[in-house]
Amino acid sequence: MGELEIIFLGTGTSQGVPIIGCDCITCKSSDPRDQRFRTSILLRTNSVSLLIDTSPDFRTQCLRENIRKVDAVLYTHSHTDHVMGFDDLRRFCEMADSDLPIYAVSETLNDLKRIFPYAFQTTHSFLKNYMRAAPREIKGEFSLGDLRIIPVALPHGRFTTTGFVFFRGARKLLAYYTDCKSVPPEAQEAARGAEILVLDALRHVPHPTHLTLQEATEAAQRLSVRGCYFTHMSHDLKHEETESTLPLGIRLAYDGLQLRI
Ligand SMILES: [Zn+2]
Ligand SMILES: [Zn+2]
Ligand SMILES: [Zn+2]
Repeated sequence: MGELEIIFLGTGTSQGVPIIGCDCITCKSSDPRDQRFRTSILLRTNSVSLLIDTSPDFRTQCLRENIRKVDAVLYTHSHTDHVMGFDDLRRFCEMADSDLPIYAVSETLNDLKRIFPYAFQTTHSFLKNYMRAAPREIKGEFSLGDLRIIPVALPHGRFTTTGFVFFRGARKLLAYYTDCKSVPPEAQEAARGAEILVLDALRHVPHPTHLTLQEATEAAQRLSVRGCYFTHMSHDLKHEETESTLPLGIRLAYDGLQLRI
């Protein structure tokens, strides 16, 4: 294993691709890269296994990738396409026989406590196969295993998404920026020179809360990253045709893609 293994569990927008009842060329495509679960990634090093978000497809994603261990979950924000798999984390509590640390900013933690109140109660710990969340409020830089993590605020309409930049020692391994309308200056500085940038790129037509393909491409080109992968894509972006239009070093992620850096 390299320094960091990145597994794309899902790369689709909130409705997933194909969209229910849609007959467009992407939704009808036979290319498996055009089938997108809702957006989430797993990060693994020799010392820690981290999940970012729990999509409504989380259970199926875990079975597909044979995920056996999650040491902590980091949440970007509380939109349903990023949190609704939360209850399926219960299996990881059961297998590890312990609480599961849940990292998020206070607003996101409060939403999780409101949506899944039972998981944050301490009184039912006798039910070992229930979800037992150990909330960890993100207030600034933190470390998990051998990774140092810097949280970054990203504008996402009425919401602020938390982006994450991962370091190991002096290496800036990964910046993960999903669900954002822009990459503001502070977030640009945090991601600059990262080995991998994962960035929101929803579609071609402007959207009030997400980057378009063109906006994401321009943002990525400003950041001098070694490689960039777009995520959170709608059915507007058919994989092969879209990727062939992108500059060198910028790719579309797809479900099941694994990177080792
Ligand atoms: Zn989303
Ligand atoms: Zn479609
Ligand atoms: Zn969102």
